[in-house]
Amino acid sequence: MKLHLLAAAAAFVLGAPIGAAPVLAPPAPLGPDVQPLVSVPAGQIALTHVRVIDGTGAAPVEDATVLIDGTKIAAVQPASAAAAPAGYRAIDLSGASVIPGLVGMHNHMFYIARPNIDASGHFEDPLVVPQMTFSAPRLYLANGVTTMRTTGSVEPYADLNVKTEIDAGRMTGPHMDVTGPYLEGANSPFIQMHQLRDADDARRTVAFWADQGATSFKAYMNITRAELKAAIDEAHRRHLKITGHLCSVTYPEAAALGIDDLEHGFFVNTQLDPGKQPDKCSDGTGTPTLLAMKPGSPEANALIKLLVDHHVAITSTLPVFEQSVPLHAPLQPRQMEVMSPQAKESYLYLRNLAASRAGTKRGDEATESYKNDLGLERQFVAAGGLLIAGPDPTGNGGVIPGFGDQREIELLVEAGFSPVEAIRIGTLNGATYLGLADRIGSIAPGKNADLFIVKGNPAANIADIENVIVVFKDGVGYESRKLLDSVKGRYGQY
Ligand SMILES: [Zn+2]
Repeated sequence: MKLHLLAAAAAFVLGAPIGAAPVLAPPAPLGPDVQPLVSVPAGQIALTHVRVIDGTGAAPVEDATVLIDGTKIAAVQPASAAAAPAGYRAIDLSGASVIPGLVGMHNHMFYIARPNIDASGHFEDPLVVPQMTFSAPRLYLANGVTTMRTTGSVEPYADLNVKTEIDAGRMTGPHMDVTGPYLEGANSPFIQMHQLRDADDARRTVAFWADQGATSFKAYMNITRAELKAAIDEAHRRHLKITGHLCSVTYPEAAALGIDDLEHGFFVNTQLDPGKQPDKCSDGTGTPTLLAMKPGSPEANALIKLLVDHHVAITSTLPVFEQSVPLHAPLQPRQMEVMSPQAKESYLYLRNLAASRAGTKRGDEATESYKNDLGLERQFVAAGGLLIAGPDPTGNGGVIPGFGDQREIELLVEAGFSPVEAIRIGTLNGATYLGLADRIGSIAPGKNADLFIVKGNPAANIADIENVIVVFKDGVGYESRKLLDSVKGRYGQY
């Protein structure tokens, strides 16, 4: 009851619309569809002999005890502490590590379908993005994602209803920051998106979806500066944040307009693209700019200073770009298991095409721009910028919810971040962006018991982050294997 009052008070103070649910809703009792997926019911739980990677970037603590009391973390005790207090259910986790729940910041609920695709990559229009309302929330939670932003929606009512169902204990999935429908401009290739007519339409669209319960917004590739400005102003008037996957508007323009976040690292900044016209997406969609912008160059230094000065976050989405780098992404059997036959076929066609570009100009450019982006992301963090992370499960179909969130953290390590720094980017940094760092994002007394347990030691070998055993959300432990088994063969279907 106290929690309800606090949440209501916070919503009032922040000026959130009446009826909009906060990202972290008060936990509800779990219904009959959710209970079979639980392996550790809520209570007083002692995770003993466990390695704690706390999400702050600190060195891991070996052989610790983490006490969970109901929905909260009660204590983190060193190895020297006495045994679990009376009444606690002890779970011996020798050889395992505990990590804060991932805060996935580019986590769509849809899949990209290419009708009648063939081995040459040809498909028929229109490209459509079917909702993965059944499989995506389970895949996210199974892989350690306990909070996520949808970062652009094509069925915002479905995503809002999924959040309501999860919060009510009737569906299984993470806490959700539901992003409104893509704020896209004219001439969009995406048939499911509304095309804004003008700035007033942008303002009204934000207002409408905020009233429906959307808690964030995302501008898209063909939006104009005037439309973006109107959307930013309306979102900020309501104390909501807005990000963008941009093209028509450059990064410096968006920073000056007051955007909060930019998606896709430095891949989609068009400021140096040849032939770039104001308010129009360029043919290169940012690739020429990234190829020209070496880390440490005067252009890079100026851009990064501007972004840091304007407190603009950057969302790293390396998995979706890794797919274009020839011979880079591993073929993961665990991913293939959850895909529908059609999704597998489509992905393998496109994967083969990417591999066939090894040694070609296009393949070399993909490799080069990827390398530049990694350097710019490191430079941005070194300059004090807030880097957050998500997989973006779109592209050629090889980025799968949840698995992709883990892959993002592995790729941050490949980029040169230490494993604990990469984990911080995927946890506490996302919580900080959402304004929820006092409640989630790290393992500390008083925080929500949102965390997950993996076999092995990701601080030494980041790939161990894939060995998920159990994922706690609000103090309830969900069995990863059961969640994955429940969606076998379904991703791509529904
Ligand atoms: Zn996206």
